[in-house]
Amino acid sequence: MDPLTAFFIVALMMLLNGGVLGLIHRDLPQDVRPSAISWRVGTLLQACGCILLAVQSFLPPAFGLPLANGMIMLGIAGCWRAMRQFYGQRENVLLLLPALLGTFGIWWFAGPQPDLVARIVIASLAWAVMLIGAAWTVLAATRREPVLSARVLAGIFGVLAVFMLVRGVYFVLSPHAASNIMDGRSWMNVITPILASVLPVIGTTGFLLLCSDRIRRQWERAASTDYLTGLANRRTLAAAGAERLQQAARDGRAFAIALLDIDHFKTINDRLGHDAGDLALVHVAQCLQGVCGERHLLARHGGEEFVAVLALDSEAQARVVAEQLRQAVRAHPFRHGDEVLTITVSIGLALRREPDRSLDDLLRRADAALYAAKRGGRDRVESAAA
Ligand code: GH3
Ligand code: MG
Ligand code: MG
Repeated sequence: MDPLTAFFIVALMMLLNGGVLGLIHRDLPQDVRPSAISWRVGTLLQACGCILLAVQSFLPPAFGLPLANGMIMLGIAGCWRAMRQFYGQRENVLLLLPALLGTFGIWWFAGPQPDLVARIVIASLAWAVMLIGAAWTVLAATRREPVLSARVLAGIFGVLAVFMLVRGVYFVLSPHAASNIMDGRSWMNVITPILASVLPVIGTTGFLLLCSDRIRRQWERAASTDYLTGLANRRTLAAAGAERLQQAARDGRAFAIALLDIDHFKTINDRLGHDAGDLALVHVAQCLQGVCGERHLLARHGGEEFVAVLALDSEAQARVVAEQLRQAVRAHPFRHGDEVLTITVSIGLALRREPDRSLDDLLRRADAALYAAKRGGRDRVESAAA
């Protein structure tokens, strides 16, 4: 295939790809749309630049070359910007610098001082800087949340950056390999448009996978956590709690659950209003989470009730952790406006005993113990009968 045909086919693929992205754009959630728009504009600019490169012989070099290269480089900057927007980074006009400097360099070495090798080196460098920047943006984010599609995308950016650097070095070392970038005698000229299409075509698939991955995670999070406190919800408690119970039974380890209920919560609502009541729930959840950390599973069981699934070294430890939970809430008063309220919780504690098979068995016993704690005057821990 000659470079001209390659450039046309590549441009066509990019345009079709941009069209597909445009079609599904409406189905993407609000928070990834700005990023999807930048990606789409980026790929379309690259497509238009490739078409201009393919027809450059019909245009004056000092006009056609900088315009075509400038569009492609701005397109790559668009993909970099898309990545930054996807990960919630601030806008930065410096992103445009490689594309602007590159375009100026191409103009200079196309018009005032014609030099093919200098143009290729400048374009390759500008591409490489932006691609490395985009790869860096993605890699830095994947360190926080490792996602396969993000790694694939970072890989595409990285491989293209390396290819562009190799291309620059190749033309410096063999300056007479081609008379222009459409010269089919150079194999480098043939594979350049093919590799240039990788980002808009395969990269777009990677980008869409990245979006769908984020949507999946958001749904998973929404389905498994309590919207108000951010704690595990009842569904997660049922699944993860049962798993922990079975594991403890298999390992012969001590296992307990603590059922916690805020004392006189209705009066907080009545005194400060329902919204302040919500804040008080979040406050209590934070106090309890501070004790539970990663070790114990804390869930909102509903209303003003919480459940802590305790991972224990000994049965005696259950009471110690339950007391820590009770005291953590008491020790951190809830502040709202001028009001400072000491909140307390009553706790029913149930240790796993041999007939216990399910979490519900333990919850039933913990509930009876909680009832005893309320009757006994509240702000206390009561253990369930064996
Ligand atoms: P006790 O010490 O016996 O547990 O008394 P209590 O007032 O805490 O118990 P009661 O069951 O009478 O009241 C619970 C209150 O919790 C009633 C309900 O309106 C309130 N509540 C439940 N869920 C929420 C919520 O999500 N937000 C707010 N603000 N209030 C809630
Ligand atoms: Mg209650
Ligand atoms: Mg209550």
